[in-house]
Amino acid sequence: MLINENIDQGNANKYKAILFIDLDGTLVDFPFRKTVMPFVYEKISKKAGIPVKKVRHLIVEEENKREILIRNDRYDWDDITRTVARRLGIEWTHSLVKIIEESNLSKEFVYPESKPTLEQLIRKGYLLYAATNGFYRYQNPVLEKLKLKQYFKAIITPDTVGHYKNEIGYFKPFLIDGLTPVMIGDEYVYDVVYPKRFGLKTVWINKPKKSIWNVDEVSKVDISTEKPDMTIRSIEELPKAIETIIRLLQ
Ligand SMILES: [Mg+2]
Repeated sequence: MLINENIDQGNANKYKAILFIDLDGTLVDFPFRKTVMPFVYEKISKKAGIPVKKVRHLIVEEENKREILIRNDRYDWDDITRTVARRLGIEWTHSLVKIIEESNLSKEFVYPESKPTLEQLIRKGYLLYAATNGFYRYQNPVLEKLKLKQYFKAIITPDTVGHYKNEIGYFKPFLIDGLTPVMIGDEYVYDVVYPKRFGLKTVWINKPKKSIWNVDEVSKVDISTEKPDMTIRSIEELPKAIETIIRLLQ
């Protein structure tokens, strides 16, 4: 079973809080996107005889379109790639899962502060979940290769729980009575606005977004309604931020 064994609701005393920690842009530097997508652009570019930049534009456009419509296949990169290839009149037979599984991921994809911080959080008695909108079939090999999986009770993904972070069903199976749930991440819409609406505490990692993929820019969600409980610049500030949140609750 992908989602771990049922959590013992009577065991709330064991932990200080439940931390839902985002992956891309929070703990790691977009390993899937940076490894697999250049391969996709290159292959399609060659087959269709159009510039790499144009292919990238078409893929981003297709993803953004799905994001705006909040479609369930908005992070299904195989489907996005196939759709764009079909539109260009070419056949796409590669599996992105296979590409990521066969890739040698550099340790550099993990932000240097990530592992020491996760270790510290576990020592302090927090229950950690990896909470990503990326699909399990893409993120699980990434976490295994980068040796990050061991820190988490489970990896929560849309294709395993049937919900993205904009739905309460994403978090609900993992909540425990008496334990404060906190979402930590870099995307304002998915890591702050929605979790706040569902009653979670939030820590926003506010750092400059350099990528062409920026959900916060594309999304039509009104972000003025919710504010993060704490804002930090880097994951290493997380333990202190969580302590502050918990202290304020007492
Ligand atoms: Mg993120």
